[in-house]
Amino acid sequence: MRKPIIAGNWKMYKTFDEAVEFAEAVREKIPSEDKVDSVICAPALYLPTLVDIAIETDLAIGAQNMHFENEGAFTGEISPAQLSAINVDYVILGHSERREYFNETDEAINKKVKAALSHGIVPIICCGETLEEREAGQTEAKVSSQVKAALEGFTDEEVKHMVIAYEPIWAIGTGKTATADDANSVCGKIRETVGGLYGSDTAESIRIQYGGSVKPENIEELLSKEHIDGALVGGASLNVDSYLALLNSV
Ligand code: PGA
Repeated sequence: MRKPIIAGNWKMYKTFDEAVEFAEAVREKIPSEDKVDSVICAPALYLPTLVDIAIETDLAIGAQNMHFENEGAFTGEISPAQLSAINVDYVILGHSERREYFNETDEAINKKVKAALSHGIVPIICCGETLEEREAGQTEAKVSSQVKAALEGFTDEEVKHMVIAYEPIWAIGTGKTATADDANSVCGKIRETVGGLYGSDTAESIRIQYGGSVKPENIEELLSKEHIDGALVGGASLNVDSYLALLNSV
């Protein structure tokens, strides 16, 4: 049985005070981590404070991006060593917004996945197709090529601990969700791709989230599907009640 994982992606939202207020409001109300992994991926600036607030609770804190080098002359960047030194547990890698606006390549994402694992940070690896690609029947090809590139060069054991987020780009922040059956079918293809690379045991262990306009009203149906093990949530993770409702829907 795969444990569900619900991760909020705050993107570039919330001031410092708002972030602290949110974390203090939810920290005692997070469901047990025996049941669900509950994560908030916050702007980097707030991570040390949020890690402190979340300590000894079932809330885990993640970053939204990082560089693959441990240190160096990379102005504006944050390294895996820096994140692990403040006990960040997760990092979102290869989000479509980073691929589109910051030119992140499959190759760089693969290096970041390696760097995350070598620092004990769980990578949440994003993949997904554009509307044009979906309409042209290229969804599977696109998603499986992104997954193959990101997962190149690991051991079975390493891959088992990764998280993949399937996020159709046309569903992000648009209010349009893939139907639960469509999302499940693509997540199933992702599992098949992982199985082709690392065997069925690994494919059965890796957790695959769906992301794209997930909210308390639609999460239950999504999570009821065989291949959907959780959600990566933007907009609906910004509000305390709605974030807790997402966690409690598991
Ligand atoms: P959304 O964003 O839930 O606001 O659609 C999801 C994401 O970008 O991870």
